[in-house]
Amino acid sequence: STTQKVAVITGGNRGLGFETARQLAKKGYQIILTSRDAAKGQAAAEKLKAEELDVISHPLDVTNHESIDQLAEFIRQQFGKVDVLVNNAGIYIDDKVSNNSIFDAKIDTLQQTIETNVYGALQVTQALVHLMKNNNYGRIVNVSSGMGQLHDMGGGYPAYRLSKTALNALTRIFASELKGTNILVNSVCPGWVKTDMGGANAARTPEQGVDTIVWLATAADGSATGGFFRDRQPIDW
Ligand code: NDP
Repeated sequence: STTQKVAVITGGNRGLGFETARQLAKKGYQIILTSRDAAKGQAAAEKLKAEELDVISHPLDVTNHESIDQLAEFIRQQFGKVDVLVNNAGIYIDDKVSNNSIFDAKIDTLQQTIETNVYGALQVTQALVHLMKNNNYGRIVNVSSGMGQLHDMGGGYPAYRLSKTALNALTRIFASELKGTNILVNSVCPGWVKTDMGGANAARTPEQGVDTIVWLATAADGSATGGFFRDRQPIDW
């Protein structure tokens, strides 16, 4: 129906993106599960459809401008609006064995990581925010990390840290420009979660990891914007 809220999730084929799709769908949202690999996205959507959830898949590589435009055009034609955007797609390609000191960091690793984790979220948001403005409703959730916190910034993992700090800055800039609208933009740290990225030793299940993502995605009008949250609490930048 036209009143059903439409939620777009990037990197929805596995991990936190997939679980966010499931949890938002369970709350009655129409999910557009996006994936850079179309077949993986379709397989993921089929799993959720088998749970009787409203999920469709659409290809999206967040680093590819054409792919982003195609998604935006598809949504404009099919739904005419976007209510929720979860910028979840991300990569972590720092050398995990050596922790990759900033002094040895390869510019190529930095560029690739920032391309996906920062410019990816930026460009997808640029393409879809009009579909929120039209409707005077929007919830944008940027999936960030404690590794991007300036407050207690550690060493190692330089590409990932820089990218998540920049993503947090993006959250603040978006929120400032959207001040006074009903489009709320926030960053979230999901904690350390058992996914391909987080690894098997991580403390949290994906369901626990997405709790604050879903909470922000479903926040009431007048809720926080320009914030950084973990476990439903504001945390330091
Ligand atoms: P996964 O590695 O399990 O999943 C990453 C997802 O991002 C995959 O769907 C992947 O697609 C997708 N992706 C990567 N590059 C692109 C691209 N160019 N276009 C579209 N999709 C892309 O990671 P998680 O689920 O653990 O992480 C999700 C988010 O949560 C990330 O932003 C991560 O930084 C953040 N996070 C995770 C933590 C954890 O402990 N797991 C902790 C803190 C933050 P494909 O399958 O094709 O590779």
